[in-house]
Amino acid sequence: MIREQIRQGIGAPPTPIVKEGDKVTRGQVIAQNDPEKLSVPLHASVTGVVAKVTEEEIIIDQTSDDMDYVPLEVEGSYSDIVRASGLIGLGGAGFPTYVKMNTQLKPGGYILCNAAECEPVLRHNMEQIEPNPSHLVEAIKLAMESTGAEKGIIGIKLKHKDVIKKLTSTLKEMNEKAVRVLPLRNVYPVGEERALMRDTINVLLPPGALPVEGNAVVFNVETLYAIRDAIVDKKPYIDKYVTIAGKLKDLKKGESAVVHVPIGTPIKVLIDQFGGIDGDIGEILIGGPYTGRRADENAVIDKISGGVTFTDLFDEQPKKLGIIQCACGPLEPRLRQIAESMGSEVVGLQVCKNAHEQKVGYKCQDPGNCPGQAEKVMALKKAGAEAVLIGHCTDCSNTVMGSAPKLGMDVHHATDHVMKTMGLHYIRTFDENLL
Ligand code: SF4
Repeated sequence: MIREQIRQGIGAPPTPIVKEGDKVTRGQVIAQNDPEKLSVPLHASVTGVVAKVTEEEIIIDQTSDDMDYVPLEVEGSYSDIVRASGLIGLGGAGFPTYVKMNTQLKPGGYILCNAAECEPVLRHNMEQIEPNPSHLVEAIKLAMESTGAEKGIIGIKLKHKDVIKKLTSTLKEMNEKAVRVLPLRNVYPVGEERALMRDTINVLLPPGALPVEGNAVVFNVETLYAIRDAIVDKKPYIDKYVTIAGKLKDLKKGESAVVHVPIGTPIKVLIDQFGGIDGDIGEILIGGPYTGRRADENAVIDKISGGVTFTDLFDEQPKKLGIIQCACGPLEPRLRQIAESMGSEVVGLQVCKNAHEQKVGYKCQDPGNCPGQAEKVMALKKAGAEAVLIGHCTDCSNTVMGSAPKLGMDVHHATDHVMKTMGLHYIRTFDENLL
């Protein structure tokens, strides 16, 4: 059984056009978007019979494993085709991709490919590039053609040496001079849109500004592959690459796997596929350790679910905690949720002075370059905190570590239980050799 969510990502949800009992074929439109609104359609990700339509979801009883699909029939611009495919940005909040494809850049503009795969644990982007680097280059060229960009840059962390080599030799074989690979520092959040622009084309936009203001359009790896699938193979966006990690019986400690599953696949199906949950867990985390959300077995994979981790238990810390919120990591509600799971009481909240509040969430002044956190730590100490819980990026974690222990305060990071699950070093004082 597949449960496709009607509201996915940013924009107006599409309207269901199927009813209970209808037979549907994989790739067929099952919810239609309003062409006048910011909205994309939804397609059946499997062939089957519609079991139920609710306000939230369309449930399909799968009757065939056939991976063929009804091809897109739309004529028009690349942006029109991408819109008809139902594609939304797959690395973040799910902004409809057709809008970005419709951007018209000024001369000298860039398509930036975010291949940073910034969140620890997740690896489905690298897994997608490795067997098929030429399709990524093709996709960048299509995006360049659509937006009038003259150059393309693939920003990828230095630690992915093999993938960098592969992409570099692919560009050489294709004799592609307008696209290049640019290694990035091994830090979080170097994949954040404005951080990527700063570190690739040397443009630092103010918080809240869009990349087009710096004459660039940014896509993540998976979105680019899906753009190519839509334009070249006429494929609607119906399957998702997902990193599966943590306490599952068929995964060894620290091991992860990448699956390619129909959108709407329930987490319970993935659990069964990997032999069941192995012992007690802290939580089921959908997304990466920094920006993911807690879910249960009834949740489903939607278009923006990049990973599912079944975590170790939280470290019990029955202390008075002060929390510092960062723009690029978990926000206050998630930090409070983690504190509660640690058995701690929150006695104070501080927000990094580089974090600027937006309509939705926060944006950092200069992502990953920390102004120092001593003042925030001292304020929490004054509020009675015995320890600090942070969700900060690499450099900022360093600065908390530079002050809190001197005041006798332990430091905990929102990702600790995930890093423990995977046998990775806790995020504290940054050391590139630990990567
Ligand atoms: S400077 Fe502050 S807001 Fe920016 S990444 Fe670091 S902790 Fe987060």
